[in-house]
Order: sequence, then structure tokens, then C-alpha cells
Amino acid sequence: MNKTPILPRRPRWRSLAILAICLAPLLWPLQRLAERYYGSELASQNRQTLDLYVANLLGTLHRYETLPQILGDLPALRQTLATPASASTVDNANHLLKAIARQTGAEVMYLMDTNGLTLAASNWDHKDSFIARNFAFRPYFRDALAGQMGRFFGLGTTSAKRGYFFAAPVREGNQVIGVFVVKVDLDHTETLWGNTPEQLLLTDNNGVVILTSRPDWRFKATRALSDGERQSIAEVQPYPTRDPQPLHLDTGAWVTQTQSIGETGWDVSILAPRTLIDRPVRTVVAVGGATLLVLMLLLGLMMQRRRHYLDRINFDTKARHELEKRVIERTSALEGLNSRLKQEVLIREEAQQNLVQAQDELVQAGKLSVLGTMSASISHELNQPLAAIRSYAENAEVLLDHQRTDDARGNLKLINELTGRMASIIAHLRAFARRDHHAPESVALQPALDDALALLGKRRRAMAVELIRDVPDATLWVQAGETRLRQILGNLLANALDALTEKANPRCLWISAEQTADGINLSIRDNGPGFSSVALTRAREPFFTTKTRTQGLGLGLAICDTLIGALGGELILANHPQGGALLTLRLRAAAPGVNLQPPEDLSV
Ligand code: ADP
Repeated sequence: MNKTPILPRRPRWRSLAILAICLAPLLWPLQRLAERYYGSELASQNRQTLDLYVANLLGTLHRYETLPQILGDLPALRQTLATPASASTVDNANHLLKAIARQTGAEVMYLMDTNGLTLAASNWDHKDSFIARNFAFRPYFRDALAGQMGRFFGLGTTSAKRGYFFAAPVREGNQVIGVFVVKVDLDHTETLWGNTPEQLLLTDNNGVVILTSRPDWRFKATRALSDGERQSIAEVQPYPTRDPQPLHLDTGAWVTQTQSIGETGWDVSILAPRTLIDRPVRTVVAVGGATLLVLMLLLGLMMQRRRHYLDRINFDTKARHELEKRVIERTSALEGLNSRLKQEVLIREEAQQNLVQAQDELVQAGKLSVLGTMSASISHELNQPLAAIRSYAENAEVLLDHQRTDDARGNLKLINELTGRMASIIAHLRAFARRDHHAPESVALQPALDDALALLGKRRRAMAVELIRDVPDATLWVQAGETRLRQILGNLLANALDALTEKANPRCLWISAEQTADGINLSIRDNGPGFSSVALTRAREPFFTTKTRTQGLGLGLAICDTLIGALGGELILANHPQGGALLTLRLRAAAPGVNLQPPEDLSV
């Protein structure tokens, strides 16, 4: 058979990979889109934070902005400025300032004279009290002395705390007689920022970081300082250092938003780490990439499945064609074989016919040979009555000469009987010798037995013979001829009844049949006298009989034995241990069949 192997093709992963590479640039706009989205999200979030912080800071500053001006008019303070040497007045002012500072939340409040010397302060009782300290170098003092509102951010020279200073002149008419200062603590505003990844940065007008959530950025310059600025820093000392170091910020790592506070000249910036955008963007790109990959895989699988499907269809088509071809080949081979078989069947049938004929010839030859063997006995059997007939006839002639008609009639009667006996012998022999045109066939045993029993039924009942039958219901099929089997069974049953006539009641006849591995066994037993020892050895001989001349011809068992032998069976003669004869008929089993043949003509 010519079979084309279907090689499994490898999936086209290479083309898929190329497709994936072609589609990969699609991720770039996705990344840009995600960056823009998360960037704007972050910006709006930071904008809110920034606004909140600036509002909070301004709120804090505004709360104290007007305080120096208002409090500068307090009589206790004016009195202190008027009589700075009066301890009770100063003490009074100190207590008052301490109480107001506590109520307003200001870090320190203090009063200076026009030389910058602190006369009264809310922290008068502290270790680092401002009393008697001079802050004339601070710009806020100079501004206030000039009649303006002084504002200043700076690190407390004594407290080292960052604060915002509001200063206002204390006037007497048009003349400035002192300066009142309120310092607001800004340190705590840093602590409000919390521990978020975003960092806040507050730079003053020098660009120096004054408030930040990152201690390492504190007091660093975000831009280059001019000489003037450096000089001013050295003079007013707003920071712990006179030379602020530059702040090196990796601008790529931060997303910065800045808002200016005009009134202070400060800039508030919020710095969000770029990772806050990068991380979700990376996730989006990864998800996009994974989706693309899954799509690629699905596409690959679909392509593979489609190819498998096409391969399968191709394979099926080829297989179908192959099958059709084989069917055609096989059909033609079968047709050839069929015609050969038909021819062989014809030859077999012819051979069968020849065989049947040969078998028939053989049986016939066997029968004729038996008859040949029997011929001496037959001629003897026939000559005897013939001689007697001749003798009776001659004697009758003499008797008629002597007018003894009655005696002559007696002789004629005897002659008649003898001719009847001779006719009977000849009829049996003719029936035996007749050609049987049928080869052994499947014959049902039970119906043949029923027929044979029915024929003898009247006589059996007259003799009151009890029939004990042990034959299975299922039909037993034997190899025989329908008529021959009936003839055999009839002979054997007749012999049994003959034997039972010699016995008084009870008379019993047992019939049993069984299927064995070798064939079918049929047993016929009677409780008559049984075979005499001579009869047991000679009963099969033709013309052997123990019955009276008129009763028995001695041909029954001889004929039965020959017929059974021709059927491949066997007849066993024996006596039963409990008395009576036991005849066993062994026949070959046959395949179940239907016997449609009409009974053979038994007439002779
Ligand atoms: P016939 O019946 O004419 O005598 P058979 O050949 O049938 O001839 O029988 C031969 C002999 O075998 C009988 O004469 C008889 O002695 C003996 N025989 C046959 N059947 C039985 C039987 N059932 N019981 C006793 N003897 C039997």
C-alpha cells in the first residue's frame, strides 16, 4: 500500500515572533499615554497638597501678621519703653507678654528699644531669654525702625529654632520709640508633612531651603548665590551656616511643582519621585505586553489548530481514498474468490454426490455380502420347508388316493403354513437387501421412538407392560435414516415384548436415552428372562432364534446389527444385573436439522 506519511509541521513561531516585534512599538504610545495619565493624576494630587500646604503656611503667618502692630499699643509696653529701668514695669510687661504668647501660640514676643536692646520678652524666665539681648543687626529691626512692617525668616540666634519674625514700630506720635516683635515657630510645620514619598521644599528669596521634609536638604542653596546675597547672609545670619552649600537634585528623579508666595518672596515646591509614575506605567506596559503576548499565543494556537484541522482533513481525505482503493481491490479479490468458491462448491457437491453414491454402493455391497454369507443358511431355511412341502404334497397325493380327504386337507394346511413362513423370510430379506437411497442424515430420536412405541402400543397394553421412560425433552439428533431407525427400534421393542410374554406380571420396559461425548446412547431394558448364554453370543447370527419355529425367524437382531453398523453405530447386547435383557444402541450424534423426508416405504 502506498502511504504518504504526513509530517507534523512545526508551529510558525518565527512568524509569530516577527509579528510580536512589529506590534511591540504599539506599547510605546501606550507607555506615553499611561505616563501622561499618571503624570496628570500626580500633578493634580500634588497641586492640591501644595495648595493645602501654602494655605496652611499663609494662615499661620497671617494669624500673627497684625499682632505686633496691635500689641505695640499696649500701655504696659509703652510704659516699659518710657521707664526701662523700672523693674516692676518691666516685670509687668514680661508677664503680660508671656500670657499673650501662650494664648496666641506665638513662640516669642519681645519689645526692643530703638537701639535694638530687648527690654521685655515673653521668654523672660527662660534660660535663653531674649532680655537684654540686642538684635539690631536683624533686618526686621531695621525695617521697623524705619517705620515699616518688618518681616524676616531666620534661625533664632539663641534658640536655634527656625522662625518667622514680624516686627512693627511702636510710635509716640510720629516718632518711633521702640520695636515690637512676634516670632512664629515654623519648625512644627515640617512635622505636619508626614512621611509621604512626596517631598516639600520651601526656599526663601535667596533660593536657600529653609523648610523641608528632608533634613539633608535643609539650608542648601537651590541656585547659585550672588556676592551680595552671600554678604547679606553673613550679616543677618538667617541660617546656621554663613555659606550655604549647593543642593544637588537629580531633576530626572523628581517631578517638581512650585508655587510662589509673593508676600514672603518664598517658593514652595513639591517633589514627587518619578517612580510614583514609573511604577504604574510599568505595570500598564507590562499588562499591555502580557495582553499582546496572550493575543499572540492565542493567535498562534488558533493558527496551529487550524493547521492541524487542515492536516486532519487532508489526512482523512487521503485515508478515505486509500480505503476506497482498498475496498475496490478487496471487492475484486473477493469477487474472484467468490467465483472460485462457487466453482469449488460445485466440485464439492459433485464429490459429495459421488461419495454418497459410493457410500450407498458400499452399504449395498455390505448387505449383499451379508446376504452372500447368509445364503447357505437361507437356502437351508428355505429348503427345509420346501422339502417338507414336497413331502406333505406327496403324502397328500397318497392320502387322496386312499380317499382320506381329511388327512389330505391337514397336509395342505401344513403346506400353507410352511409357504407363509417362507414368504415371511423372503420379505425380511428383501427389506434388508433393498437399496437405501439416502445417506445418513440428521434424524430426531424421540419422534422415531414414539412412532415405534405407537406401532406396538396395542400389544403392550394388552400385555399390561409398564413403560418407564427416561428420555430428555430436548430433541436428540442422530445420524441415521428415518425409516431404518424406526425399523431397528421396532425390532428391539418387539423382541422385548416377546421376552416379556414368558414372564408373569409385573412386566416392565425401561427406555432411556442420553447424550455422551461420543454420541447418543439409547437403552432398552425389560424384566423378561434375559439372554441365555448361547443367545448372548449368537443372537446376531442370521436365523438364530430361541423362539418356536412359528414365532421367530432369527433375522431381527442380525438385520438390526448390520443396519446399525452401516450407520457407524453399535449394538451392545447384555443382561441387566437385576435380570432381563439390556440392549444399548450407540448412534452418532448429528447436527440439529429438520427431517422433511417422507417415511420410506416399508412394504415388501
Ligand atoms: P427372533 O426374534 O426371530 O428369535 P432375533 O434375531 O430377533 O430373532 O432374536 C434372536 C434371539 O435373541 C431370540 O430368539 C432370543 O433368544 C434372543 N433375544 C432377543 N431379544 C431378547 C430379549 N429381549 N430377551 C431375551 N432374549 C432375547
